[in-house]
Amino acid sequence: MKVNRRTVLAGMGAAALAHGPLRAFALTSTQIGGYEFVSVSDGNLLLPRSFFFEGLPQEELAQVLAPFDLPQDQLAPPCNLTLLRNDDRVILFDAGAGPAFMPSAGSLSESLDAAGVAPEAVTDVVFTHGHPDHLWGVLDDFDDLVFPNARYHMGQVEWDYWRDPATVDTIGAARAAFAVGAARRLAAIPDRVAHFSDGDEVLPGIMAQASFGHTPGHMSFLLGSGSDAMMIGGDAIGNHHLAFARPGWASGSDQDPERGAETRQRLLDRLADEQIWLMGFHLPQGGLGRVERRGEGYRFVGAAR
Ligand SMILES: [Zn+2]
Repeated sequence: MKVNRRTVLAGMGAAALAHGPLRAFALTSTQIGGYEFVSVSDGNLLLPRSFFFEGLPQEELAQVLAPFDLPQDQLAPPCNLTLLRNDDRVILFDAGAGPAFMPSAGSLSESLDAAGVAPEAVTDVVFTHGHPDHLWGVLDDFDDLVFPNARYHMGQVEWDYWRDPATVDTIGAARAAFAVGAARRLAAIPDRVAHFSDGDEVLPGIMAQASFGHTPGHMSFLLGSGSDAMMIGGDAIGNHHLAFARPGWASGSDQDPERGAETRQRLLDRLADEQIWLMGFHLPQGGLGRVERRGEGYRFVGAAR
């Protein structure tokens, strides 16, 4: 796969670009597995460093992070959705954050516009998991469906978890709002959703791969073959620094840190061995790149450098 480095900007002039991060863009590439692949931005998150790095060995952490030049106060991980399209389908992986989660996120509609995709044209929305930055964008300000003609797809385990009324009590205080928000959004689509399990072909040529840990039923997806195979990884590999350099370390963003670390190591090992493209929701440069082994860990090599 050759990546076309052209960045399509949505309604943004050079003056706007000079101020602040790039909120809306679509990064195009060539075909993969019978689909055109496009990375569409939903803006970025803003999170305190402690969310990622609390409880880790600080001296080694400082050494590992030194080359990445991260801001000292808050981190601003990008949010990149995968769009696949062919003559039959327009498939979005996740729905973005929508208007109610964070002011810095929720710019998906501008990016889709840049990619020439009307919300009505989206035929399928496939969820990696039910966290706010991935799910809450199914509803707009008026609680109407943003993608009115889409069929939705969510792993059975993930669906059951967020639909369980007990989850708001078991998820922990810090994420109780996630549970309430997810239940409300999923209640809007039960008659439009299909469920799948590990190994299922969710849509033509798109295989589900369980990657539990970040959430109880987190799913990744594989498509294409050989050197053009791609994994849509969601948040199983959630950042370009620590997740690659020390994949075995617990991550504050994983609901089950131990299982999340096991999953991350397993996926990275395979991605590096088989040189499968990785599309990561919170990875830089549009999220697409290769995984290289480095020292006792790995590194992310963005395709759009
Ligand atoms: Zn996320």
